[in-house]
Amino acid sequence: MPNRETPGDVRREMCQVIEDLHALQLITATGGNVSARVPEAPGQAWITPGGLFKGALQPENLVRIGMDGEAVDAGTGSPSSEVLMHTAVLEAKAEAQAVIHCHAPHATILVNSGLPFLPISSEAAYFVGIGRIPFVMPGTQELADAVVEAMGEGWAVLMQNHGLLVAGRSLRRAADMTEIIERTAQVILGGYAVGKPPPVLPDEAVEKLLAHGDLVA
Ligand SMILES: [Zn+2]
Repeated sequence: MPNRETPGDVRREMCQVIEDLHALQLITATGGNVSARVPEAPGQAWITPGGLFKGALQPENLVRIGMDGEAVDAGTGSPSSEVLMHTAVLEAKAEAQAVIHCHAPHATILVNSGLPFLPISSEAAYFVGIGRIPFVMPGTQELADAVVEAMGEGWAVLMQNHGLLVAGRSLRRAADMTEIIERTAQVILGGYAVGKPPPVLPDEAVEKLLAHGDLVA
């Protein structure tokens, strides 16, 4: 019974995070996927399955994968079709514990329109250099490579005609960052929508926040 839940299992937290992001309409019925390293085996991760409704996932629905993106346990569902982005980021960033990908609407509009991600708040300031990539076919190694390259030393990538991908030192922080980025994109777009590009924090405030360290990830 490889999928039986064990105490402290990260899969329970994954289901909670998925439910939270679903309630925020960031993860939709079939759009979006989440992975988290298996605590006792960092070279493996749990990931959401392909094609299942994301609003009512149970721990036993999650699929254990190796860093080749293949399911480890026989008889489980198949991993998300976007698994390669997750394994590529987890491989490239040893400190990343989790990856969240979603089709966040405002983040997508922002990157589709080529508008800048502006430091409009102290939270937003941490993502000023957020990576962005053009459309690449979902599910491909080419997309996984493009995401890793655009992420660089950062923790998030805006994906044109697609969505957003965020890695985190914990699952909850990845979820928090996902929400911050989407909310910030929404407020930036609102400014342009009323014909008023939003005011931004002074450079020295942004520098101070960034120097302050690592509130992100
Ligand atoms: Zn996607």
